[in-house]
Amino acid sequence: MLKGKTAVVTGGTRGIGFSIVKKYLENGANVAIAGSRQESVEKALEKLPEYRDHIMGIWPNLCSPDEVAKAFASVKEKFGSIDILANNAGVSSRTGLYDYQLEEFQKVVDLNLTAVFVCSQAAARIMKEQGGGVIINTSSMVGEYGQPAGCAYPATKFAVNGLTKSLARELAKDQIRVNAVAPGVTNTDMVAALPEEMVKRISAGIPLGRMGEPLDIANAYLFLASDLASYVTGITLRVDGAAMS
Ligand code: NAD
Repeated sequence: MLKGKTAVVTGGTRGIGFSIVKKYLENGANVAIAGSRQESVEKALEKLPEYRDHIMGIWPNLCSPDEVAKAFASVKEKFGSIDILANNAGVSSRTGLYDYQLEEFQKVVDLNLTAVFVCSQAAARIMKEQGGGVIINTSSMVGEYGQPAGCAYPATKFAVNGLTKSLARELAKDQIRVNAVAPGVTNTDMVAALPEEMVKRISAGIPLGRMGEPLDIANAYLFLASDLASYVTGITLRVDGAAMS
């Protein structure tokens, strides 16, 4: 479904991001894994020996326009284009309002929102020149419902939904589609970091009766990246088993 396309997947070293990387590779794309550290990126690349000629690693500071522009230029140089950007990297937060330090709030905003803006701008410049592309952002079910602690996290996901809708309208003239995926509770390290009691309570309330798996989310990323979604732009696609909060 993605033969001949090139994708950049931020936070592609593990969890949902690594699943997106594998899904895109299986469907014929070249993929650049963007991670925070060279070591974790190289470890992820080692897990995919059969795709050696179709993958590469980059580790720019995702909030630095210069570093991101350079890294994306190296992807274009190696594979010839950037057709898909999956803005997946993210960090969660559970801190209560009274205990929040500004540094923590800012850290969540930096990775979950500012990096999405910086990477989208760099990718869109390349996509416009090529005549089009696809940007897919990672929202969350809490971007609709909020959550009872760690307010920075849902605040950034609400913002991602807004950025998605706005960029979809702005970039349509350049044939760049912009959508978001809003996962429900998904079985990754991010969930492993939550208290077990909380995960149980949340899972029990999911109508489909189970937590999401990274593959469930990656399948939505494949659909939105592919030509099957050629007239889909500006949406946030919920992939959450009909979870309500
Ligand atoms: P994870 O913690 O397993 O993976 C996060 C990824 O982000 C890792 O690859 C990590 O290396 C990368 N990352 C962290 N800091 C980075 C930085 N400074 N620069 C570059 N990369 C960095 O998380 P996950 O559960 O796979 O989450 C992926 C996305 O899905 C996030 O945006 C998250 O908010 C979203 N999400 C997750 C869930 C869930 O239940 N797991 C639910 C809704 C939304």
